[in-house]
Amino acid sequence: MPFHFFKELLSLVYPPYCIICEIPLVEGESIICTRCTIDYTHGNTRLYENHIKEKFLPDQPLIRADALCTYTKKGGMTKLVRKVKEDKAIAEKVGRHLGLLWAKHTTNPPINMVVPIPMHHTKLRLRGFNQSTALARGLAHSIGKPLVTSFLKKKVNTEEQKKQTKEQRYRNQKNAFAATGNGPSIKGKHILLVDDLITTGATLKAVGDVLLEEGVAHLSVATLALTI
Ligand SMILES: [Zn+2]
Repeated sequence: MPFHFFKELLSLVYPPYCIICEIPLVEGESIICTRCTIDYTHGNTRLYENHIKEKFLPDQPLIRADALCTYTKKGGMTKLVRKVKEDKAIAEKVGRHLGLLWAKHTTNPPINMVVPIPMHHTKLRLRGFNQSTALARGLAHSIGKPLVTSFLKKKVNTEEQKKQTKEQRYRNQKNAFAATGNGPSIKGKHILLVDDLITTGATLKAVGDVLLEEGVAHLSVATLALTI
């Protein structure tokens, strides 16, 4: 297949437009144009160093926690977060982008596997796909680590949390996740958890607690956006 034809096919799946402002991308840009990168990700071409550990997960054995950008209700990132929820192909592509940025820095000990935050099966049926899994798939591909989706499940369909207080969210999420007993052994491993958006950290804490109970030694976190 001639390369230009392949490229055209590819552009049908991944249109070469900035997914925030929708202007055409130029050579060297991928997914988000340079202007939006400056406006919404603080001009960082690497992951945004943040306070996930201090603010949300002080008692977890966290090695590294990164967010691509900070998220405010009026910012352009709302568009990116929405598109990732709506479009599996975009979510995977953004995940690959995250993975390329993640891979610029090494972690010690190295990551053993990539695990997305699971979605309850009722919600999954309704939505069609789990955006965290799509992000994690792209990320795992970029960093060359296995994606593991069989180990965890969300057993409680937690209600919409937007209007709840931090305490209510923690209470709801606390027992919402469980290990399935399936998948590879995670004992002593370093797991990279992937989610699309961190708001209170309640979900990450709940999932982290389940993994630690199952013998995971270290956790890291990669997320698309972090609310401030
Ligand atoms: Zn743009």
